[in-house]
Amino acid sequence: MPLPRLLALLPLLRHAATAIVLLMGLAATGAWAQAGPARVVDAQSLNAGVLSLTPYLGVLEDSQARLTLDEVLHAASAGRFEAGHPPAEGISFGITPSAYWFQVVLRNTGDEPLQRMLEVGYARLSHVSLHRPLPGGGAESVQTGATALFESRPYAHRFFVFPLQLPAHSEQTYFLRVQSTTAFIVPARLWEPAAFHAHERNDYLAQAWYFGMATAMVLFNLLLFVRLRDRVYIHYVAFAFCMAFALAAQNGLVKEFLRLQSPLWSDLASTFGYSFSIAAGLQFMRHMLDTPRTLARWDGGLWWLVLFFILSPFVFLFTGQTFIQTAAIVYLGAVMTAVAIGLRGALRRQRSAYFFLGAFLLLALGAITNALRAIGLVPTNLLTTHAMQVGSALEMVLLAFALADRFNEMRREKAGIQKKLLEAQTTLIGSLKQSEQKLEQRVQERTSELQALNRKLAALSMTDGLTGIANRRHFDEVLATEWQRAQRSRQPLTLALLDVDWFKAYNDHLGHLAGDECLRSIARVLAASVCREGDLVARYGGEEFAFLAPATDSAGVVEIAHKIQEALHRLALVHPDTPSGLVTVSIGVAALVPTQGEGPDVLVRRADEALYRAKSEGRNRIVLA
Ligand code: GH3
Ligand code: MG
Ligand code: MG
Repeated sequence: MPLPRLLALLPLLRHAATAIVLLMGLAATGAWAQAGPARVVDAQSLNAGVLSLTPYLGVLEDSQARLTLDEVLHAASAGRFEAGHPPAEGISFGITPSAYWFQVVLRNTGDEPLQRMLEVGYARLSHVSLHRPLPGGGAESVQTGATALFESRPYAHRFFVFPLQLPAHSEQTYFLRVQSTTAFIVPARLWEPAAFHAHERNDYLAQAWYFGMATAMVLFNLLLFVRLRDRVYIHYVAFAFCMAFALAAQNGLVKEFLRLQSPLWSDLASTFGYSFSIAAGLQFMRHMLDTPRTLARWDGGLWWLVLFFILSPFVFLFTGQTFIQTAAIVYLGAVMTAVAIGLRGALRRQRSAYFFLGAFLLLALGAITNALRAIGLVPTNLLTTHAMQVGSALEMVLLAFALADRFNEMRREKAGIQKKLLEAQTTLIGSLKQSEQKLEQRVQERTSELQALNRKLAALSMTDGLTGIANRRHFDEVLATEWQRAQRSRQPLTLALLDVDWFKAYNDHLGHLAGDECLRSIARVLAASVCREGDLVARYGGEEFAFLAPATDSAGVVEIAHKIQEALHRLALVHPDTPSGLVTVSIGVAALVPTQGEGPDVLVRRADEALYRAKSEGRNRIVLA
């Protein structure tokens, strides 16, 4: 359906809240009214001190809003007023440029003059005036309304209240003129002053109860916002504040207590309140239902809607109320969108959505009860009269519950995350410890491997590759150490040098490999002959061997030398080119108690000289230096 046709269909919608009232209230408009004069009201005996004037009123539409009182009187006598409205609380009207005239006829049959109050119980009537035609021509008039100064009211009240004097045995006709820039209802009632004052006290008490509660909610959540720094609280505060302000404006309390002078502001205060509260409510919903995440595709649109509700009241400042019918569609659309989003959240089991829907339902129930009361389907009492406030209050409480629930939920989530973090940390520490242990073990393994290798290397560096006994380097080291030790202990150090006889010839006859094998055999014999700890057998070089015996005198070593020769003899290594036909060795022995200033080379030189003599004396013998 194209937008202009929609606009044409919904011209009566002022804003979402009054739209509901209106839709229900339309039933009570002129549909049942018939042409005829206003019914006379017996003002003397009012049931419980109050009477709804709706069924008694005669109504005349002044579509140009230009009729004078004389013209209205003329219309009245011409029977152009319509009467016979059903006994609802009031008569409802849509947004209309027309002015409406109501004829009220009050009769006092008593002997005493009567004081009565005429109450028009709807605060958002831009212009309200009451006229009493005087018998001799002319009229007594009171001009007031929402756009007029508060001081213009004949009785200081949030609604329009006119104190009336009815002389004894009289009938008086009043003409009430009403015009409003917004959709409106005219609930006209006649009161006995005492009953009205009692009602007034209860009424203001109910108002104070609601606004006191709203103030508490606003302040408490403001504190929460300051403390918790969660933006959702400030949205709640804005929503509750604007809602309370809108209701206060709607109920005439803003006009009464802020004494607004400007007609425009007086007319628009509730529009600002409702519009801002819808904006804040949408923002609140966006946060609570987390629509930027859960409804990413639509969230941008929601944000534009929020912007619309913030800016549109300012547009009305310039355009007056002309633009309001179009805005009403957006108002209604926004409310329906919010409900749809709430329903969607509820279907997806979002906890906040239940609260949100519940809160909206309470507000809607308030509005519907209000509307039903207005058309007489629900009895009028303190609760139903203030249904909107009660709904709004319950809504605020439920939304505050939603906030508390959200806070709890977040705390639970946080605790869960912390627990998980702790678990992850513990696992991490565990695995770190494990890998550290592994690493330590590996290092230990490597270290011991390295140590073994080092030992092997050290052994290798001390060992002769061919024979497996100590090499020359090791021999030199041990000789130096033992030399010093012998120097300190003044004990003899004995060295025997062995040289294989005719070994060149051995090689020549039997080959070098056989020569090597022969050297290995001699080394084994040597090693086996030496059994004292501290003695050292080494390959001195080529086919020469050394035998070092600390703390041993030369006689002991000569004895060992003999043993070696005997063992070699028993081994009987064949030598093709010696007198004996066997491999023999010559041995030079030298013993010394080292003196200060001498080095171990003295001992070596002596042993060498002895060896030389053994060679020159015929070989295969032992010579002592
Ligand atoms: P002498 O009785 O005077 O000691 O006679 P000789 O032949 O042993 O004399 P010389 O010292 O001149 O010869 C030593 C020979 O030993 C020379 C070399 O061929 C041999 N020789 C030295 N080292 C090795 C070795 O490691 N393996 C083998 N197979 N032969 C070696
Ligand atoms: Mg030699
Ligand atoms: Mg030799």
